[in-house]
Amino acid sequence: MALPKIVVLGAGYGGLMTTVSLQKELNHQEAEVTLVNLNPYHYVTTKLHEPAAGTLDPDYAQVDIAGLLKPEKVRFVQDEVTRVDPENKEVHLAGREPLKYDYLVFGLGSAPETFGIKGLLENAFLIRNLNGVRQIREHIEYSFSQYHNSEEKRDELLTIVVGGAGFTGIEFVGELVDRIPELCRQFDIPREKVRLVNVEAAPTVLPGFDEELVKYGMKYLEDHGVEFRISTPIEECNPDGVILKGGEKIDSATVVWTGGVRGNPLLEEAGIETARGRVKVDEYLRAPGYDDLFVVGDSSLIINEEAGRPFPPTAQMATQQGKHLSGNLVAQLRGGSMKPFKFESKGTLASLGRGSAIGVAFGKKITGSTASMMKRINDWRWFYLIGGLSLMFKKAKF
Ligand code: FAD
Ligand code: NAD
Repeated sequence: MALPKIVVLGAGYGGLMTTVSLQKELNHQEAEVTLVNLNPYHYVTTKLHEPAAGTLDPDYAQVDIAGLLKPEKVRFVQDEVTRVDPENKEVHLAGREPLKYDYLVFGLGSAPETFGIKGLLENAFLIRNLNGVRQIREHIEYSFSQYHNSEEKRDELLTIVVGGAGFTGIEFVGELVDRIPELCRQFDIPREKVRLVNVEAAPTVLPGFDEELVKYGMKYLEDHGVEFRISTPIEECNPDGVILKGGEKIDSATVVWTGGVRGNPLLEEAGIETARGRVKVDEYLRAPGYDDLFVVGDSSLIINEEAGRPFPPTAQMATQQGKHLSGNLVAQLRGGSMKPFKFESKGTLASLGRGSAIGVAFGKKITGSTASMMKRINDWRWFYLIGGLSLMFKKAKF
């Protein structure tokens, strides 16, 4: 008899957690599990702001997928998913025949939210994957080197604009605060020549986060030379820089957009109902109307009933979903029943560069080096969950 086919799309936080948990829980020959991912490696999305700024070697933010899987339990397919066809229960890939499934786990992450802003996709950098962040680092280094080597000393080469002061924007700016002095030394440029501008549409940075912590974070970053432009949406991005609401222009050779995310477009294209590309999943993480299609991570949407709005898409959410879903899939295969998923927030931490952070952990507000240490422990925990102690020690950065 053919084994039930479980196909997991995406080796990010949600997909990889589902897969490694299935690998642990399933017995030999209980199911045929296939993991599909674009690259042969998993990149640690939560660390991408570091290689983007050049404060971390990208090797530390990537893990070879083959090294995490047991081939007798999970088949790994490196390919690009081009279409999901829930009616025929198949997944189309760029480079091979479609894959058939009995259960599909969709974990292909998010897409950038651009709000239709003119010129953004063409002219701004995005912190989305490892190759993209390598480009950001190289571009900043090249701009500094151009400034150093040219006669005319164009200021825009030393002006970096970060669009959006949500968690990604703030964490990236925090890394740049650490990196810029090093670049200034390397290229013999006075620090005061460099402008680092963080533009935010909302009346505050980190909208919705604890006010006291936001104040701490802003002061820390301002003391380190960051200029904040609050309540000032970017309305256009062009090769010369950005145009803000009201018409002000900031000339900049480096614009990095961190203005938010939406769900992966493949779900909408599959005819599944979405809100900003995200699928409102049921208590078992299923897409509405399907009992064999599960969505984990940034493309799923769960309402926080207490707050009356969706939980933000986070690695913490994706990890918990992946773990829970694996248990439910195993239960289904064994004729048992599924348990409803409930997200348990362990807190939120935002780094402000290497030595500082702000956040709430175990219900307590923490700042500075204590918060920074907690943030690092979170990274280590992820490596431990997917690859055990050996991976954790290999990747841990103190
Ligand atoms: P991802 O982790 O993005 O993985 C998606 C995977 O799918 C990738 O491997 C990708 O290559 C693959 N893929 C995509 N499209 C295709 C395709 N068509 N075919 C094949 N493969 C494909 N959250 C926290 O909880 N804590 C944090 O500290 C934190 N820090 C962050 C810092 C940064 C800089 C960023 C950008 C985000 C941060 N987040 C954090 C959010 C967190 O990273 C995401 O919520 C999380 O990565 C979502 O997991 P996911 O599995 O949905 O997608
Ligand atoms: P976000 O939606 O959290 O923040 C985007 C920011 O961009 C918002 O503050 C928004 O007001 C601003 N913005 C939107 N349009 C703008 C415009 N035209 N001009 C200027 N600013 C504009 O998105 P994100 O920071 O990319 O984060 C994505 C998800 O990942 C979130 O759920 C976040 O919680 C999570 N994340 C978590 C962490 C962490 O826990 N440390 C770190 C990074 C990301």
